[in-house]
Amino acid sequence: MLAVDAKKQMALHDQFGRQITDLRISVTDRCNFRCFYCRSADPENYQQHDKILSWGEFERLGRVFHDLGIRKVRVTGGEPLVRQGVEDFVARLSATGFEDLSMTTNGHLLSERCERLLASGLKRINISLDSLDPVKFEKITRTKTFASVMAGIDTAQNSRLAPVKVNAVLVRGFNDDEVEVFAQFARERGVIMRFIEFMPLDADRHWSREVVVPATEIYQRINARWPLVQIPHEASETARKYRFADGAPGEIGLIAPVTQPFCGHCSRIRLTADGKLRTCLFSKEDHDLRGLLRENASDDDLAIYIRSVVNEKEKGHRINEPDFVAPSRTMVFIGG
Ligand code: SAM
Repeated sequence: MLAVDAKKQMALHDQFGRQITDLRISVTDRCNFRCFYCRSADPENYQQHDKILSWGEFERLGRVFHDLGIRKVRVTGGEPLVRQGVEDFVARLSATGFEDLSMTTNGHLLSERCERLLASGLKRINISLDSLDPVKFEKITRTKTFASVMAGIDTAQNSRLAPVKVNAVLVRGFNDDEVEVFAQFARERGVIMRFIEFMPLDADRHWSREVVVPATEIYQRINARWPLVQIPHEASETARKYRFADGAPGEIGLIAPVTQPFCGHCSRIRLTADGKLRTCLFSKEDHDLRGLLRENASDDDLAIYIRSVVNEKEKGHRINEPDFVAPSRTMVFIGG
């Protein structure tokens, strides 16, 4: 018995000594938005339902990951709120005992679902918002949902979900003129406004270095208008964090996977909706947990396999290497 308990306590490490404590679970590959920097060219090539893990399969894997030392889980997609039953799944994850349970959503369905998510044990939320101009928002997402997303942010801010983070991906020529507008939004609304560099994970393969808006530029522009003070952060955190020197509420986060990679401290792995384990956003291959689950593997078999896969986690994402090749799965099929 002692040996079993000791094994359960053994944390997940990779060959470079990084401890893996964070898991992103993509519960669906479906999305009700079609953001041009993510999925425009793959409109309806979703996987068939039987290829997607059932809630029971996700829950079982969740328990195995928990026993392997995963402490933080982020539920994502696709759009997690389009899959019926996601609140019950959050409740099951909560009962499993994860210390930190969060969700990334486009916010469109959040107003009506926020209460139930809270009651299920969700602690934090990240809402994607790529423009504060309704016309531009419509062009980026190819939806007419600006008002409902803003309502979702309102509802989240007025709830016990804390903190509320708003994520924007800036693409040169589309929305990079809004840096200061977003910063003003953070100050007025008291939200954590995070800017994520555009990564080569778009379906149309339009990514190029020229359209990436570097985090240093964003920092300089905001700092010139409202001086910023850096806030200490955990090494494994993706964002460099800043508060406003004048004491205004809100915060700025800069996530720079392209220009300032943070792979050396990466503590994350990902589980896709079809049950594949990915050790990096940019992994060339993924690892089949669905097959094992459906061939009646025991929890121990699953744990042993997960350990062996994690051990081989890539040292870094290689976006900046001359021989870099973008992964065949795009962001919506990985889970951001
Ligand atoms: N549907 C949810 C949402 O909109 O937040 C969750 C899934 S979405 C794939 C997760 C995050 O990935 C979003 O913040 C989105 O902006 C980001 N994302 C998608 N494609 C990206 C890309 N090529 N580069 C950087 N971030 C991207």
